[in-house]
This record gives sequence, C-alpha cells and structure tokens, in this order.
Amino acid sequence: MEHVQVIRFAAAPRRRRLARLGDWMAQHRRAILAMQWAVVVFYALLVVVPAFLPQPNPEARLFSNDFGASSFVDPSYCAPDGSMAAPQAKAPYVAQWRDRLVLLAQYLFWGVWWPFVIASVVLMGRVWCGVLCPEGALTEFASRHGRGGHIPKWLRWSGWPVVAFVLTTIYGQLVSVYDYAQATLLILGGSTVAAMGVGYLYGKGKRVWCRYLCPVSGVFALLARLAPVHFRVDRARWDAYPGRTGAVDCPPLLDVKHMTGGSQCHACGRCAGHRDAVELAWRAPNAEILAAPTPPTAEAVLLIFGMIGVASGAFQWTINPWFVAAKQATADWLIGRDILWPLDSDAPWWLLTHYPASGDLFTWLDGALILGYILAVAAVLGGTVWLCIFAAARLGRRDWRAQALALTPLAGIGLFLGLSMMTANHLRAEGVSLAWLPAFRGVLLALGATWSGWLGLRLLAAAKPGAVRLGIGAAAHLAAVAAVAATWVFVFYVW
Ligand code: SF4
Repeated sequence: MEHVQVIRFAAAPRRRRLARLGDWMAQHRRAILAMQWAVVVFYALLVVVPAFLPQPNPEARLFSNDFGASSFVDPSYCAPDGSMAAPQAKAPYVAQWRDRLVLLAQYLFWGVWWPFVIASVVLMGRVWCGVLCPEGALTEFASRHGRGGHIPKWLRWSGWPVVAFVLTTIYGQLVSVYDYAQATLLILGGSTVAAMGVGYLYGKGKRVWCRYLCPVSGVFALLARLAPVHFRVDRARWDAYPGRTGAVDCPPLLDVKHMTGGSQCHACGRCAGHRDAVELAWRAPNAEILAAPTPPTAEAVLLIFGMIGVASGAFQWTINPWFVAAKQATADWLIGRDILWPLDSDAPWWLLTHYPASGDLFTWLDGALILGYILAVAAVLGGTVWLCIFAAARLGRRDWRAQALALTPLAGIGLFLGLSMMTANHLRAEGVSLAWLPAFRGVLLALGATWSGWLGLRLLAAAKPGAVRLGIGAAAHLAAVAAVAATWVFVFYVW
C-alpha cells in the first residue's frame, strides 16, 4: 500500500509555536534530508580520512599555533643523513594541518558529539536520531533501495540494545577508541556498514537497525523519557477525524495512533499534523516516568547494568589507582611464576590497543584486566543498585522496572559527565583553564542525585504502601542513588 502523509491544518485550531515547528518539519522534508546528507558527508570525512593519516605529533594542538618546528620533523621529510632537506620547509605546515584534522575528528566525535548528543536527547527528545544521525539516514536510504525483506523474529529481540551497548562499550575500551582514528573507523564505520546492511535486507524505507539493533538506541530511549517536548497524539481527535488517511511513514515503525510517550519516537516530525491529532508539544519532564506503564525488563537492565554499571567501569579504569595496583600485583605474581606470555603485547590493534609509534601497547594482561574490571564494576555496582531498587519496589508494592526508571536522570548525567571527561582532556591539552569544572560537575551530580531521589520517592508515595514501608523503601531507593553518586565522587574528587 502506498504510504501517504495526509496533513490537514485548515480545520485545526490555531496551533502553538512549538506545534508549528513540528508542522514545519513535516512540510519541509527536503530541507531535513539536505541537512541529513550534509551530516553524512561530514561524518564520512571525519571517520574515514583520519584513519589513513599518521598519528598526530604529541605536541600537536588543535587551536594553538604555538608549535615548535622540531615538533614537526617528520622522518619522511628528512635527508638520509638526518638533516633537513629543502622540501622540509613545507613539512611543519602540512603536518600541522594533517595533525589538526586527526585531532579535530577526535575532538568532534568524543569531545563534542557524544556528550552533547546525550544532552540533546534529554533536552529535545531523539531529534538527533530523526533529523541528524548519519547512520539513521544511511540505513533508511539502504532500506528504500534494498530487498525489503520481512523483519525476522530474532532481530526483534528486546535484548539486542543491551548486548550491543555492552559489547561496543567494552570493545571501545580495549582498542582505545577515544584515542585512535583507526579504532574509531573500525567501531563507528563498522556500525554504519552493519546499519546499511540491515537496511538493505529488511524493511521498506524504514530504520530497522535504529529500532532494534543500534547500540545506543536503548540509552536514547531511556533518556528521551525525560525530554520536555514530544510528539503528542490526541486519540479523540485522531478517531474523530473524518475519512481515511494513509499510514504515517514512521521510520522506526511505531504505531503512531497508540503512541503514549517519546521513548521510541525519533522526533523526525513526519507525523506532525496527521489527522489533526499529532503535534509537537511541551510536557513535564517527569511525566513519562511517573505515568508510563512498566518498561520492558531489557530497558531496566540496560539502565542499571549498562548505563550505570558497564559505563562507570569503562570511565573509571584509567584513573582508578586500585586498578593500577592490581595490575602491578598480578604482573609480579605472573613473573614470579615465570608465566610471561600474558605480558606480551603482540595482539593486533583491532583486538587490543597496539600503536608502537606512540608507545601505546596493551598486553594480554591489560586486556584481561580491563575486561574483568568493567564486568566487575557492572556486577558489583549494578548488583548493589538493583538490590536496593528491588527492595524499594517490593516495599512500595511496585514493579522494580518502573521504580528503576527513577534513576534515569542520574544515569544520564553520569553518562554526560563521563563522556565530557574527553572534552575536558581535549580542552586542557589546548591550554584552556577549567578551574570551574569541579564545581560544575558537583552541581550536575547534585542535580542528578536530587532528581532521581525525588522521582523515586514520588513513585513510592504514589503507591501508598503505608508509612513504615514507605520510609524503608525510600531509604533503599536513596541508597541506590547514593551508590551511583559515590562512584562519580571517587572519579572526580578522590582518585
Ligand atoms: S512517531 Fe514516528 S513519524 Fe512521528 S515523529 Fe516519531 S518517529 Fe517520526
């Protein structure tokens, strides 16, 4: 059946400014498409080109022009006797801009893109997915020109976003994805190729990859619950609309008529105005958590063991002195028993970080300990938080999955703070003073902890479990909040 977007605005009452913005999105698909393809080109350049350039000189900076000429002596520009030959006069300039391109890609991907995409989802819903994401645009394009196959049942499994998030996060740490362009190409480029492959095979002009497999779709679905804007569906107006209309061309295959929240909506705007019943609208940021039905188990597991557990482990291991001490002790123990192969650093770069020119080589022991550390943090921190939430929910006679959603603000802020550690590192390297950063982090952490604590108490109170159960349940919920906040206190103020 041909999918036709039927939009009637004439009969609708005067729409608010925000609703008109949604209508604009529906009416200007070409402008949005042009923006998407511009992002695709930009993304492709920044992912692909730096991976084929040499590692930047350690002295290279993105913004500063304060380069020592010696910093840019590239062996390929040296005469055999080691002296500088005539063409080398150009080398510093070329090398500067070559290095800058690599640094720019690192900075944009890990210093700007990730932290601010996370922030944008909390503030505006999944506009990133629906309007800007290059992977989404490419998978939809492939799907429009692909085989249009039926989506198999295994692909619809709700656990894929959890598995994909955990594997991508851990693998990214093992290959140092934040530091090396080759690793970035492998992970981001690999993900894009997979997205296009899935688009080619399944669905007809849809974003099957984004809906079921994207490693961050589960995280975005959780965070979008907090957004103060969403595409609201008025069921009464929908049903009262005269005549038949075509189906909405919804890329993530949502049943728009029955949509009650922004969690899965990509905020692409295509349904705005449909049957005079869909509009972009404000809402209370807590509305979807306080009123939504119980989320799937996979979503709650992703929140507690993925966003809180695995992500915390991934952000911590480089700065945790206990990790370094444990590594040293393990190495000594192995050497004492003449077991030396775990100390070899001969793994390929796509398995473990291996960049001899930068002196950055992971041993098999490094890899095993990083993996073990992240999984241990996920188990201990995630397990503790889950136990507290489970206890709070039982005392409040609630479902633990719904109670867990109260942790979304703190988990989201933790993710933002963790990712912005890369932003801070880049800015420090550029000589930018960040004296305000500890206070800023403290404010955000306090905001996240207060928000999550307050949400949890409201959820418990709404169940009216009685004063004693409410008091003990509240203590259990606040213990979960404190456990998460404490890990960030260690990261930013203790270690
Ligand atoms: S419901 Fe679907 S079509 Fe409507 S804005 Fe969300 S993703 Fe787009």
